[in-house]
Amino acid sequence: MSADDTSRVLVSGGGIGGLAAALALARAGRPATVFEQTETFKEIGAGIQLGPNAFHTFDALGITDKVNRLASFPDDIVAMDALSGERLVQLPVARLFPQRFGRPYGLIHRADLHAILLEACRESGRVTLHAATKVQDHEETPDGVVVRTHQGQTYSGAALIGADGLWSTLRAGIVGDGKPRVSGHIAYRAVLRADEVPDSNRLNAMVVWMGPKYHLVHYPLRGNELFNLVAVFHSDRYEDGWDTYGDPEELHLRFQGAHPLVLGMLEKIESWRMWVLCDREPVANWSKGRVTLLGDAAHPMLQYLAQGACMAMEDAVCLAGKVQAHRGDMAAAFLDYQQARYLRTARTQLTARLYGHAYHAAGATRDLRNAFLGARTAEQTMESMAWMYDPKEIPR
Ligand SMILES: Cc1cc2nc3c(=O)[nH]c(=O)nc-3n(C[C@H](O)[C@H](O)[C@H](O)COP(=O)(O)OP(=O)(O)OC[C@H]3O[C@@H](n4cnc5c(N)ncnc54)[C@H](O)[C@@H]3O)c2cc1C
Repeated sequence: MSADDTSRVLVSGGGIGGLAAALALARAGRPATVFEQTETFKEIGAGIQLGPNAFHTFDALGITDKVNRLASFPDDIVAMDALSGERLVQLPVARLFPQRFGRPYGLIHRADLHAILLEACRESGRVTLHAATKVQDHEETPDGVVVRTHQGQTYSGAALIGADGLWSTLRAGIVGDGKPRVSGHIAYRAVLRADEVPDSNRLNAMVVWMGPKYHLVHYPLRGNELFNLVAVFHSDRYEDGWDTYGDPEELHLRFQGAHPLVLGMLEKIESWRMWVLCDREPVANWSKGRVTLLGDAAHPMLQYLAQGACMAMEDAVCLAGKVQAHRGDMAAAFLDYQQARYLRTARTQLTARLYGHAYHAAGATRDLRNAFLGARTAEQTMESMAWMYDPKEIPR
């Protein structure tokens, strides 16, 4: 191996997690190579919510100014009952969060966040990017890891990170827990121009409408020019993977009886993209020797806390810190990283499931949810999120 290979970290997957990992390592002085199976490095066209914890990771990744230029900053998080139209929660995040958590709550187009990470990787001068390159398998050697691609090339490095997402192939060799768990929840996503959104819904807020076995989320993006919509419902329809076209008829059937403001939003969309929502049971063993997992490959979660990408970026910063602290002993660094991260990410995985039940509650459970949410002060609601957003809670 060349001198460069003995310190270079190989990363399988160029999504938000893989790029954040390469960037964090580059900022810690390590060269990294990212392999992405798709033709180009890109993200799908949809929004993503960024908790204050994500902004703390942006500081560590050196991209805060760029994110601030492209993100939208909502005044409130609002929770509505999708049957009655009752407002259950109005949390003034713009007013409360910066003071309590040191950073704001933001909303960004995924493609924008991904492009910022990609550009920062390029500018670092330490990250090599290979698109259209699928990692097929790997082998640990006494002093490193050799990766073989589907295209037949081999690459050597000091270690390998599997940031290859929910359907991670690297996970099989480390955890060996089979396929992800299909939740039975389906997400339809779409982006509207702001002028297509009915006036009463054109709020500078992250709004969630909670109904029996369904919910709708909408929020502004790109300086409030666009609106992101995510409609989630229970369905036994199942297709592997994500990013296929959704069937508007099924969507309208599932949302029957919803408040006119909800139906008014759904009517605006002609074409939806569909995702089958999956997660896994938390595990504490996602590192083996010089190979580890990160992001959805390590701890895939349902989207109810809007934390999957935030946790992947937290992983990246933590992992780079451990690699630096262990001075190149990659196996020790990866175990330390896993130990630092697994309880926090396990809590997020399991709490996201609970939130899913509350979002989609019906009957007495819905009444209980509404009474519980409605009785809390904004400060109490905010404190219930402190375990995610308070920088003191983020393991380094
Ligand atoms: C409906 C929905 C809403 C969400 N909303 C939010 C939100 O608001 N906030 C939030 O923080 N998170 C949210 N998430 C979660 C978030 O999207 C994911 O947690 C995040 O994208 C995971 O990033 P990742 O890099 O780990 O994986 P991915 O984004 O899946 O990236 C994996 C990459 O690896 C590549 N790859 C796979 N196999 C190989 C291989 N063998 N060789 C090379 N490349 C490979 C893939 O092509 C892909 O580019 C949401 C998810 C969904 C479904």
